[in-house]
Amino acid sequence: MAVELAPLPYDLDALEPHISARTLEFHYGKHHKGYVDKLNAAIADTDYDKQSLESIVQNSLDAVDSGVFNNAAQIWNHDFFWNSLSPSGGGEPTGELAELIDDSFGSFAAFHEEFHTRATKQFGSGWAWLVVAGDKLSMTTTANADTPFVHGQTALLTCDVWEHAYYLDHQNRRPDYVKTFLGKLANWDHATAQLKEARSSVSRAA
Ligand code: FE
Repeated sequence: MAVELAPLPYDLDALEPHISARTLEFHYGKHHKGYVDKLNAAIADTDYDKQSLESIVQNSLDAVDSGVFNNAAQIWNHDFFWNSLSPSGGGEPTGELAELIDDSFGSFAAFHEEFHTRATKQFGSGWAWLVVAGDKLSMTTTANADTPFVHGQTALLTCDVWEHAYYLDHQNRRPDYVKTFLGKLANWDHATAQLKEARSSVSRAA
């Protein structure tokens, strides 16, 4: 059972002028699709072929050949990233998520500053994340294809800081891209839904 390229949750030009259709044509249509094609070629006729994407990521974590992990985790990360963006995103969250951000970071402004710093300073290719672990929110960055759920953290929001995410629109100016992500695109409704899901799975397990 091949892993599928999930449809983008909006049109290619829906994030303009913040992220161009040209960027999404390459980022979704070439990079993300490339991970799907490479993973499916690698797992054909193996035990992975019958597993969910999450299971493939988890089960390939310690494999000597990292090809399966890298492609599978990048598919998971990109599926999550597209949903971390919204044509009507940006601004500040409300409700329980806003309160948790205040509790965990002091204020939304403090969260904003630290997320921007971490995303900008992540060396090379990777991801910046808002995650929940236990009662608190925290921030983390991961290198290359690495992803928080293999480290026991539940992702709420992510910003892809691989150059392919911003080079066509911002060239080497990653700080401008991260500022645009936070100010215009961050999908707080999706982050809130992830928080609720994390809470309900904790209470189901209790
Ligand atoms: Fe990417």
